[in-house]
Amino acid sequence: MSWWLGGVFYALVVLAVFFLSGSLPPSYLLATLALAGGALIFRSAIDSQFKKTGLSATLEALEKMGRDEDIGGIYLEGEWAPLGEAVRRTAGFTVERLRDLQEEKSKLETILAHMVDGVVLFSARKRVLLLNPAAEGILGVGREMIGARGLELYRHLPLDEALDRVLASGVGTTLEVRLYHPGEKDLQVFLSPVRGGDEGKPSGVLLVLRDVSQERAVEKMRREFVADVTHELQTPLTSILGYVETLQEGVEDAATRERFLGVVQVEAKRLSRLLDDLLDLSRIQAGVLSYRQDLLDLGATVRDVAGRFRPRAEQDGRCLELHLPDEPLPVRGDADRLGQVLWNLLVNADKYTPAGGGIRVRVGKDGPWATVAVEDDGVGIPAEELPRIFDRFYRVDKGRSRQSGGTGLGLPIARGIVEAHGGRVEARSKVGKGSEFIVRLPLHKEEQSG
Ligand code: ADP
Repeated sequence: MSWWLGGVFYALVVLAVFFLSGSLPPSYLLATLALAGGALIFRSAIDSQFKKTGLSATLEALEKMGRDEDIGGIYLEGEWAPLGEAVRRTAGFTVERLRDLQEEKSKLETILAHMVDGVVLFSARKRVLLLNPAAEGILGVGREMIGARGLELYRHLPLDEALDRVLASGVGTTLEVRLYHPGEKDLQVFLSPVRGGDEGKPSGVLLVLRDVSQERAVEKMRREFVADVTHELQTPLTSILGYVETLQEGVEDAATRERFLGVVQVEAKRLSRLLDDLLDLSRIQAGVLSYRQDLLDLGATVRDVAGRFRPRAEQDGRCLELHLPDEPLPVRGDADRLGQVLWNLLVNADKYTPAGGGIRVRVGKDGPWATVAVEDDGVGIPAEELPRIFDRFYRVDKGRSRQSGGTGLGLPIARGIVEAHGGRVEARSKVGKGSEFIVRLPLHKEEQSG
């Protein structure tokens, strides 16, 4: 029952009590009854008008709109019809706009979530308003940084000062920074002002972070490579030029002249070897060297190379032992390139082993690997140098390596070739006792399962 019906009922009860107690004349009761009847008729007339026009539905729809609920259809008749139409159109337009905005928002969120570059949006007071997953990864932070100060986020004073400058000037800028948390990183940072603040000032700054650590590392490697090569080429060239100038000035003694010419020849050969090795290494590292994929018996390949090397070792007074398995060891690969690996290891074993010492080559099997171990009784390698001997131009004893014609590229070339065959090479050594280089190559599949 609505409030007004309750009111009328209550008034009637009170009047009836007064009437029954005799304090009111019957005309009062009649007048009251007429009044209540009139009110009832008036109310039902309004209700029917509302129902007829659908105005109540319109009001309900407007309330729903306010609550962001689906409003369904609104149909008004007669003089209310234009109002109904206007509300319907406004509602339709608003719903459409909301849908568009929602769509735009989810598009932007998808783009931000999948960007490789980090994106951070700062307010005019340098508080983090937004950061995408890439930015979280680059800076090693999480969602909790929303609302934090810029400096807490990147911990880099020059970057913070750049942010201040962009906020003050409204002009974007780019800078490169090195961050140390979490881990060392080189970042290219693009700062752009966000328009719309007071008095033409930016309302914030958008930061785009690009991780350029890899590019910078490659550039550094390239610079170091050029410096290393220049240095390596300079030594024999200086020597050649020196002797040639002396010869040009005239050397009376024929024997001395022959000796000088001999040095020029040795240095020129060294240069040629260096260039060959450099070319090989750069092709191996660039992955442009093509390898045959023949099915080989590793034992036979090793026997072949060791056979060619034996006279050289014996001539230098070293004994070369070869231990081969009874069974063939099938591996897929390039016999010439694998032969080059073994040759380089044998040359080293020979170079760094005093006359009278021994070199042992063992071919075998270790789980899924076919192995070749080259062991010598040579000078050995200090433990702290072992991790670096596969680096380009790294030599434990520069003088000794150069004197014996080394280029400092034999081991990096060997490692490159072995790795291109899906294998690994490692070294063990004891100073004064000798060294052992072990090459592992994947056994051909049938052999592995057998
Ligand atoms: P290099 O032309 O100087 O021999 P490598 O790349 O072949 O260059 O070897 C790098 C360095 O590793 C050598 O200069 C040497 O110091 C050390 N080394 C390699 N093999 C042996 C070995 N069998 N015994 C001792 N030292 C070795």
